[in-house]
Amino acid sequence: MAKKVLIIGAGLGGLSTALRLTTHGYEVEIVEKHHQAGGRLNQLKKDGFTFDVGPSFFSMSYEFSELFNYCKVENPLQMNELDPVYSVYFAGKEKPYHIYKELDKLAREFAAIEPHFETKAKKYLAKAGQIFHDTEHVIIKRNYDNLIQYALALTSVPVKHTPLLFRSMWKELERNFDSEHVKVIFSLVAFFLGSTPFDTPAVYSLLNYTELKHDGYWNINGGMYKIVEEIQKLLIERGVKFHFNTEIISVNKENDSVISFTDKLGKEWHSDIFVCNGDAAAFRGSILNRKKFSEKKLAQKDWTLAPFTIYLGVKGKVKDLHHHNYFLGSNFKEYSDNIFKLTAAPEKPYYYVNVSSISNPGCAPNGCENIFILCPVPDRRFKNNWEDKEKFADTILKDMSERTGFDLIQNRMTQTIYTPEDWETMFNLYKGSGLGLAHGLNQVAAMRPKNKDEHMNNLYYVGASTVPGTGLPIVVIGSKLVTERILQDHD
Ligand SMILES: Cc1cc2nc3c(=O)[nH]c(=O)nc-3n(C[C@H](O)[C@H](O)[C@H](O)COP(=O)(O)OP(=O)(O)OC[C@H]3O[C@@H](n4cnc5c(N)ncnc54)[C@H](O)[C@@H]3O)c2cc1C
Repeated sequence: MAKKVLIIGAGLGGLSTALRLTTHGYEVEIVEKHHQAGGRLNQLKKDGFTFDVGPSFFSMSYEFSELFNYCKVENPLQMNELDPVYSVYFAGKEKPYHIYKELDKLAREFAAIEPHFETKAKKYLAKAGQIFHDTEHVIIKRNYDNLIQYALALTSVPVKHTPLLFRSMWKELERNFDSEHVKVIFSLVAFFLGSTPFDTPAVYSLLNYTELKHDGYWNINGGMYKIVEEIQKLLIERGVKFHFNTEIISVNKENDSVISFTDKLGKEWHSDIFVCNGDAAAFRGSILNRKKFSEKKLAQKDWTLAPFTIYLGVKGKVKDLHHHNYFLGSNFKEYSDNIFKLTAAPEKPYYYVNVSSISNPGCAPNGCENIFILCPVPDRRFKNNWEDKEKFADTILKDMSERTGFDLIQNRMTQTIYTPEDWETMFNLYKGSGLGLAHGLNQVAAMRPKNKDEHMNNLYYVGASTVPGTGLPIVVIGSKLVTERILQDHD
């Protein structure tokens, strides 16, 4: 008889694990706290506008192809490569820089500020590419049972990369480029990891390689939520049952096995195997009461910034905006030094803007635009009260209106705001941290919460805060790693 797996959480991690496990004949059931699938990769429909709630692009598009290929189905997603990859607006500079993958085209953007850019970038990205290819399979895409295995894996990485562990990303950029703007643009990826370029080791320049050389950035025809809809459709065809508005709050165990989990209404969910897609660190603390993940221990960990997100529908079109835009200030070092620990809303916010109606006109009524604004802010350990959310949203909208010459406030037709508190409440994100545990060297690979429980022999984890880490393609890789664990232990 097919073994039964209960997956807690219908985020991308849970959904892609379900797809892989059903391919191996497992019977899967999914319980989800939210009213619909997707987790952070969710959708909001309001006043005739449709918004992707979280992710708006991804790198390593081939990981989605791998997922569908593994599961023996045709890839149902129509993926579009973004060109330009993104645009960057600096305060006080009238025109944005458009960031192209073609280096000769990008060199023209930087002609006035970075002489010989193309030669310098080729050299920088070649080195970043070597780190990527020297670690992708031997370090990132694999499970670890213990630290010794990890140490052994590290010895297979060429020693020439060692200095990059001890040098910051910013220092590496300083060795390669002169222009402050070029260095700032190349260093933005550090914030995705939960750190600043001044503290992030230079090995992570491999992310510049993934965005600018390797596979670029992609989105989905019809909106990012199509990823969820298509996987969910396949799962329903395979007989997977979904139970929404169902939050797991406690565990029932016998010796070293989980017997069942109990939801908020007292219903017990039995299974042979359990996979948790909720945050792998916070779940161990709040549901399993593990001392190593107590409130105090969780608070001592490094977490990524929290999202302050605005979903804005406007009448009219904002000129010159591309799919993927950064609006930055002119005080980058000061911003980096403070942003993770501010106890108030930032006075000069840095933010990211995505207008998906540019490539998916169906997301907004005729003549209108749907605008998603993401301003990374400190998590709730530092700023807990967001009563000033409307005021802060208006600060961002005024700034963006001045910089684009389009009055967003005057033309506003609909607006929804999610604060870090909303993100925490919706998806059980630790203190609202948007991407989960940070990726400092002390919190990656064998040092990240494992995808197999330390004590229970039938409990596993998938998603942003377990291995390999956060971001859509990385979570999809994580679904393969946890499937390998389950097959190894139970097949
Ligand atoms: C605003 C924002 C923008 C982002 N932008 C990008 C981007 O552009 N590109 C990119 O690659 N990544 C982006 N990310 C990161 C990306 O969204 C995540 O890495 C990824 O979606 C995580 O998927 P997951 O399956 O690990 O977790 P989740 O999406 O959080 O799914 C976990 C699910 O488990 C459920 N759950 C938790 N606890 C319980 C419980 N006790 N009982 C029942 N259900 C439970 C939650 O409700 C949730 O649905 C962004 C994240 C945010 C917040």
